[in-house]
Amino acid sequence: MNGIRQSPWIIHYDASSCNGCDIETLACLTPLFDVERLGVLNTGNPKHADIFLVTGAVNEQSQAVIRNIYHQLPEPKVVVAVGICAASGGIFRECYNISGGVDSVIPVDVYVPGCAARPEAIIDGVVKAIGVLEEKHREMKAIANSLDQTLFLRANLSDAPEILALQKIAYQSEAELYGDDSLPAMHQTLQELGDDFERVPDRIAALADTHGTTGNGHHEAARIVFLKAVVNGKIIGSARGFALGQTAYLRRMIVHPYFRRRGIGRRLLKEIENAFPDVKRFEAKTGHQSKRNLYQLAKGGYQVFRTEPFTPNINWVYLQKDSSPIPAETKGVK
Ligand code: SF4
Repeated sequence: MNGIRQSPWIIHYDASSCNGCDIETLACLTPLFDVERLGVLNTGNPKHADIFLVTGAVNEQSQAVIRNIYHQLPEPKVVVAVGICAASGGIFRECYNISGGVDSVIPVDVYVPGCAARPEAIIDGVVKAIGVLEEKHREMKAIANSLDQTLFLRANLSDAPEILALQKIAYQSEAELYGDDSLPAMHQTLQELGDDFERVPDRIAALADTHGTTGNGHHEAARIVFLKAVVNGKIIGSARGFALGQTAYLRRMIVHPYFRRRGIGRRLLKEIENAFPDVKRFEAKTGHQSKRNLYQLAKGGYQVFRTEPFTPNINWVYLQKDSSPIPAETKGVK
């Protein structure tokens, strides 16, 4: 933590600025302000950065780039929106191609006012960002020390924003693995996820029909069950599944990268299985190169029974296992 306090590394991205805020940002590096003497380094590699500093309003083209850079920064990370354009869209707000400020795409922690933002204000914003970063570090450390108190609970609609944010963080490693960020989990919207909580999604209703399990009763049974793994009030993992006939389909078992390899994924798998006590078979799917998922599922007793191309880079691997009686003490989720 001392290393970060004394030398935060920053990555700067111009979302579509008029260049005013960029020039002021670069001025921070010149001999007059010389933030490098304080240890602040401007890096070009998001994987090395702690702070994501964005100038300019967000347009159609910069949205994907902002998301891509943001997801590559290691956790915890802080986003600083520099200038009124990055904060709200500024004078470009009503333009046909502008979607708004940076927070229309990713969460922003610190807003630096001004048009253009003055170097002193930018440095002040970075100092505030370091404070936020320290707080996030403390919070994650406290969670890591309390993993033995993880609660596995049913999630509801109010958890959707936190689960969606976690999903996008968790799937970043998959997107990098396949060099393909077209994974549906990376692009799901809050509206879509909220709809999944409230009703049987069309894609699953169609699946029920193709399986010959038509009728309102079966569609109702196909509602998605969402689980969450919670530590100190924060969701660090999630899984979902639905039952059709005698099979429970398990999907999107996600764990925050910071808390992986600590047994959370294994418990999530067990708990989501326990949520379907009446089925005879479980089915899961993962990408063909996702060794960690394949290992975890194999360890849970799953066997591969089918593969199917999904994108030019990704093949789905389908795994199944027969359900076994659930010990009374682990049955059900709180
Ligand atoms: S805030 Fe002002 S100076 Fe900065 S990018 Fe927008 S218009 Fe340019």
